[in-house]
Amino acid sequence: VKRFEERVKEKVPGAPLILEIKGNSLDDGPGIRSVIFVKGCPLDCVWCHNPESKKRGAELSFDAGLCVACDACIRVCPGKALSRREKAFIKRDRCTLCFQCADVCPSGALSRVGRDMTVDKVVEKVKRDIPFYNSSGGGVTLSGGEPAISMEYLSAMVRALKKEKIHTLLETCGLFDMQRFMDLVYPHLDMIYFDIKFIDETLHRTYCGASNKIILDNFSRLQERYLAGGIPLLARTPLIPNITDSDKNLSAIAGFLREREVKKASLLAYNPLWHEKNGKIGVNNRYSKEKSMKSFMKQERLEECRDIFISAGLEVD
Ligand code: SF4
Ligand code: SF4
Repeated sequence: VKRFEERVKEKVPGAPLILEIKGNSLDDGPGIRSVIFVKGCPLDCVWCHNPESKKRGAELSFDAGLCVACDACIRVCPGKALSRREKAFIKRDRCTLCFQCADVCPSGALSRVGRDMTVDKVVEKVKRDIPFYNSSGGGVTLSGGEPAISMEYLSAMVRALKKEKIHTLLETCGLFDMQRFMDLVYPHLDMIYFDIKFIDETLHRTYCGASNKIILDNFSRLQERYLAGGIPLLARTPLIPNITDSDKNLSAIAGFLREREVKKASLLAYNPLWHEKNGKIGVNNRYSKEKSMKSFMKQERLEECRDIFISAGLEVD
């Protein structure tokens, strides 16, 4: 273990990039929390609310609203990937991701998404808020992307946070190697938020890009462990209009949870802000054009979805 921790001090092989460390969050677990967003995810959900966290590699983001048209970026770009004469300001097929443009951009309109950060660096940063965690019953949430995309890095992170007596919560899509997770991460974690999007495998493949077999199996095993005295586990379902929020899917999820003696689950109201984020990193998908996906969910529909869970015997968070 010691040798491994020493290695982590340098850099974990295959360590993911860090997208962002957000402080003072009240939405990602109990109390006041810092959220560490990791870059890279094994799923490809069409509505992903953090689309810039899907790919493992660094990306170039452009926020046209911040651009002051100084053209400093155009002058330094070695690949001639930037131009005002063409429809798109960035020709992404010509961009080599050298980030020279982001380095000279005075307004932050161009920026690099994803940075290398050692576990020590991350812990040093989140440690500053220990007084807030302690006074509110909060801590640190590991989110993404999928933090379990690098089990070694995640393990090193939760161990280092534990050493500082910081409460740790993992937000996961559930697609990971359970044996390695149990060996390397679980013993050092305090809580898990686990997303369940579909019970039907075909729908999961269609909208999330992979089978849900391992995910459902992993949830079942973690719930068994919880019932045997393990750490708290909360199932969460993102409500995506006309995709996950059908009565049939919600009933199937509620049934799946009740069969596993789950008492409480969470429903996440749809948030359409991902459209804007996709635009900044040059990603387009056909769901961007769906009218139903452009606005926030109506309270009425949210209540109907909650009622499906409640009538199945679940308490809804
Ligand atoms: S990252 Fe490099 S190649 Fe890409 S647009 Fe910026 S300067 Fe040009
Ligand atoms: S350097 Fe930044 S502010 Fe200047 S033109 Fe480029 S994107 Fe706009």
